[in-house]
Amino acid sequence: MTATSAAPAVPLRAQILDACRQMAASGLIRGTSGNVSCREGGHFLITPSGVPVEKMTPEGMVAVGFDGAVIGGGKPSSEWHFHRDILRSRPDIHAVVHTHSPHATALACLREDLPPFHYMIAMAGGDTIRCAPYALFGTETLSRHAVAALGDRKACLLANHGLIALGRDLDEALAIAVEIESLCEQYLLARQVGTPVLLSADEMREVIEQFKGYGRHAQAPRQDP
Ligand SMILES: [Zn+2]
Repeated sequence: MTATSAAPAVPLRAQILDACRQMAASGLIRGTSGNVSCREGGHFLITPSGVPVEKMTPEGMVAVGFDGAVIGGGKPSSEWHFHRDILRSRPDIHAVVHTHSPHATALACLREDLPPFHYMIAMAGGDTIRCAPYALFGTETLSRHAVAALGDRKACLLANHGLIALGRDLDEALAIAVEIESLCEQYLLARQVGTPVLLSADEMREVIEQFKGYGRHAQAPRQDP
């Protein structure tokens, strides 16, 4: 459909594996926790169930239809429901990353939203990172909670579970996951020694507008430190 690219593109399966390796290297994924998906035409590719990153291969990624049927590959990640539902309900989103990264998960275990204590919260498109209510992993109920908590944003916490980050591509989803984990670490650190002062709604609106001006939330702060 799009035959305009000059350089040969890296296959999506290899890009997903690379994203998983980056997540493992940065401590976002440990063992078999964490999963990644990416839209590919009329279906999506997702990491397999129960396979540690070091044993994943491009061929091992599972192709799943938006009706939930496996098109090719083995058993998809147990969290394929929310990957499917997010990709189906958000045409602006093409990649979904899920982790049990330590600081985001610690905050999710308090069942608290991440408040606007730092302007980088706006990277996910809002003035908080909402925490979705608890539901059993792998269920449609968890998926409904996640989709609602995300709204039109690019990240949410899952109570007593972890973090979901979204992007128009894998790079953006990964950058947001790394940033939110870092923000949760900073927030929990600040909470240990005092009560963080929150930015006002006006201040956060200003940041969100500024980020929009750069076109890509995930890259804006790196281009203009
Ligand atoms: Zn999980």
